[in-house]
Amino acid sequence: FTCKENKQELIAQSTKDTVYTIEIEDKIDLLLSKMTLEEKIGQMNQYNGFWDLTGPEPKAGDAAKKYEHLRKGYVGSMLNVRGVKDVRAVQKIAVEESRLGIPLIIGFDVIHGYKTLSPIPLAESASWDLEAIKRSAQMAAEEASAAGINWTFAPMVDVSRDARWGRVMEGAGEDTFLGSKIAIARVKGFQGDDLANHSSIVACAKHFAAYGFAEAGRDYNTADVGTSTLYNVILPPFKAAKDAGVRTFMNSFNELNGVPATGDRFLQRDILKGNWGFDGFIVSDWGSITEMIAHGYAKDGSHAAALAVNAGSDMDMESYLYVEELAQLVKEGKVEEALIEDAARRILRVKYELGLFDDPYKYCNEARENEVIGSKKIHDASLDMAKKSIVLLKNENNVLPLKKTGQKIALIGALASDKTSPLGSWRIAADDSTAVSVLEGLKQYNGNTITYAKGADVSLGKSEFAIEVKINTTDKSGFNEAIQVAQSADVVIMVLGEHGFQSGEGRSRTELGLPGVQQELLEAVYKANKNIVLVLNNGRPLTITWADDHIPAIVEAWQLGTESGHAIAQVLYGDYNPSGKLPVTFPRNVGQLPLYYNYKSTGRPSLPGKDVVFWSHYQDQKNGPLYPFGHGLSYTTFKYENIVVNNTYNASGKVNVSVTLTNTGKVKGKEVVQLYIHDLYASVTRPVKELKGFELVALNPGDSKTITFTLTKDELGFFNNQGEFALEPGAFKVFVGGSSYTSLESGFEIQP
Ligand code: BGC
Repeated sequence: FTCKENKQELIAQSTKDTVYTIEIEDKIDLLLSKMTLEEKIGQMNQYNGFWDLTGPEPKAGDAAKKYEHLRKGYVGSMLNVRGVKDVRAVQKIAVEESRLGIPLIIGFDVIHGYKTLSPIPLAESASWDLEAIKRSAQMAAEEASAAGINWTFAPMVDVSRDARWGRVMEGAGEDTFLGSKIAIARVKGFQGDDLANHSSIVACAKHFAAYGFAEAGRDYNTADVGTSTLYNVILPPFKAAKDAGVRTFMNSFNELNGVPATGDRFLQRDILKGNWGFDGFIVSDWGSITEMIAHGYAKDGSHAAALAVNAGSDMDMESYLYVEELAQLVKEGKVEEALIEDAARRILRVKYELGLFDDPYKYCNEARENEVIGSKKIHDASLDMAKKSIVLLKNENNVLPLKKTGQKIALIGALASDKTSPLGSWRIAADDSTAVSVLEGLKQYNGNTITYAKGADVSLGKSEFAIEVKINTTDKSGFNEAIQVAQSADVVIMVLGEHGFQSGEGRSRTELGLPGVQQELLEAVYKANKNIVLVLNNGRPLTITWADDHIPAIVEAWQLGTESGHAIAQVLYGDYNPSGKLPVTFPRNVGQLPLYYNYKSTGRPSLPGKDVVFWSHYQDQKNGPLYPFGHGLSYTTFKYENIVVNNTYNASGKVNVSVTLTNTGKVKGKEVVQLYIHDLYASVTRPVKELKGFELVALNPGDSKTITFTLTKDELGFFNNQGEFALEPGAFKVFVGGSSYTSLESGFEIQP
């Protein structure tokens, strides 16, 4: 025990043997009994520490106030402090200079890696490989924990259906079922089996709730969603994270149906802490308590603090309002002290679970920091994840894989040589320009000649926090060189798309084509040489309709992190057979948004064989997507046959659906077998298709395997508008195949 008073008290009260076995809740009781109201509130205060903590201590201003509060025990957590030296510096003040010596919990946005970056979360989700995703989170935890961090603000489990929203890159895509499974994998990866292990970090399910439903995809915008969508689409990944043991939640900037999420008692107290029994703590989003004033929900800071704490927000991230207002609010009787005590208890609980009271410096080990950060093991895992995240969208005329010798390759596009962009958004601790570029990756295969031409710039985006990323670069002076290298090549590889800073927080877009003059570049090069492989780098779906009509091979390579160029080269040369599947629908144009596979049927019938619904269609565009959710090709081919339904629901509560998969191509490959259902009629209408099972299957050429999915009430039921989960008897269809546009189907009925 490092908490001074606590330790003495325990020793005084206990025999030698019992001191160390006393339960966490008893320790918290004892500790709380020693704490003043201000110290309890202090636990609920989180400060940003983005300055040189090992330099001279500031004597005035904001930072000086933070030091003073640290010494008084008025800070429970800091974020953005990183590196053993800095973490030790702040922890030392909290532990050795404050009255009770309560350790800080150190938070950081470890979103897809710390210094060694793995693919952006959306890309990882395209692997549908839960083990790999879990391992990726484990590696991130290992590296971040070695830098002194013990809490990540991840995973973001917001479902989103609107690619205009820049934070699509940070989530698991548009689907609730897939998103829930990935949420579990990430939570387990970050937290490990035992939080007290020094390479486990606390995870945080965010943003509670409905942040992904920002109107028109504009960040922080109003979310106005009905009950059915809230219960069936938005909340389940959060519930899955809770059930997987996530210890913290973050609330959200947006308002939901008129109430800012940070002040939403229904979400936080009734659902999360009430119905779901969550006993970890909720942190606000950055300044989101103050933002309730601008929302028009709180009169002033004091009112905002009262609303937030009463609604169940336990920790204030950088609003300064809990530390400044709560004590007075308690004295005035506007906030019950019991609520403060509950919040402090939740925060202390997580600190005890982390083992911070046993050793507050357990994350501050220089030797471990040097050994773990950037280790080969972590790089290897990042490369493995990057390969698994790539989706082959189109491959005609056997353009891919490339031949290993004898081909003259033209490599075109600013992104092809970029070593920063592949790191993607949320890479605060990574050194810039540390990614392997496509150019570097391809050069390792030296049997071909590669000639590189930039063609055109993508963006002038400078840094993670530059709010305005200039995307409309109009300079075409590089076109001629690009056309020339294309003319004399056997194959042209064009790496086009968004710069890593063009998606992420605050990076909404109204156009989803290739930014700047890249579309013109693509068309100009196409006139010179049609044998093009388009490699996309992007953090969200793009409307690449022209490319799909003209370009023979298209590879979705997202932003793949540190090992990006190696992964792309291995896929292009066929040393790795891609198996990724889209976790998001790619629209044809922005006007279709929001567009997602699990939509509801209108009352108007579909016209047989046509992508048209009677009167419910656009005059100028198809209803359907460019690439559907779940789509992704391989260098081999797969055949699905023999869908068999074994309905024993009324006897055993189970319906088994099996299908036989055969690798009908010439190379070994992996396929994500997907199972969808359609509940044909219900008291609340159900989507035309819903993913309810998937399995990643590896097969050698000619081999077959029968895969069986089991559907129970959990998969077949849904939430009604009162928020109750139920299975209603009736007729169901099942579909199995390699994307949400699969056609192998069967059906069954569940009797009352
Ligand atoms: C984001 C959060 C993030 C926090 C701390 C906010 O702007 O919305 O997701 O964890 O900043 O950096």
